[in-house]
Amino acid sequence: MERMRLRALLDFAFPPQCGGCERTGSGLCDTCLPPGPLIERGLPSLNVSALGIYDGALRRAVLALKSGRRDVAEAFAEKLRTRLPANTIAVPVPTTAARRRQRGFDGCELIALLAFGSRVAPGLMQVRGETQRGRGREARLSHRQRFRWRAAPLNGSRIVLLDDVVTTGATLEECARTVRGAGGMVTQALVIATVP
Ligand SMILES: [Zn+2]
Repeated sequence: MERMRLRALLDFAFPPQCGGCERTGSGLCDTCLPPGPLIERGLPSLNVSALGIYDGALRRAVLALKSGRRDVAEAFAEKLRTRLPANTIAVPVPTTAARRRQRGFDGCELIALLAFGSRVAPGLMQVRGETQRGRGREARLSHRQRFRWRAAPLNGSRIVLLDDVVTTGATLEECARTVRGAGGMVTQALVIATVP
């Protein structure tokens, strides 16, 4: 209750603004992300469902999230709340520790916790930054272990990965591999936006 009162006070002092068009009222307005069916995309080992295409207003909103806007994170969580299939657990794709320090929070993890509460297992950890990519053969090989599972084994739980943007899908595939290595079953990912 106290928390809700604080929330109301904060909203009054700093009203949420749409990350796509800066209109006040919500971190993401219905013009910038109209309610509608998810966009489905197939990767080699899993299917991806996206709220929209990474373009225009939705792209601006994702960039606002990446820059640390909590109001936008809350709005994305609201849009994703009903999208997690029954009997599954969401695992957010983590950002690097450096970026997390810079923004003050991990966008996908915050969205997952706000949207799915206890149905979240934030066990993935990024052990190496993306900047290693393309630095010669050795770096490319080590790139295969970019993530590590740091929590309890998943013992056959059905996992849905959660990420902000999917481009080539390489990151989701890497995360899926790591989660499978920890005993989770992964056939699906939920993302905010996908490249066309
Ligand atoms: Zn808007």
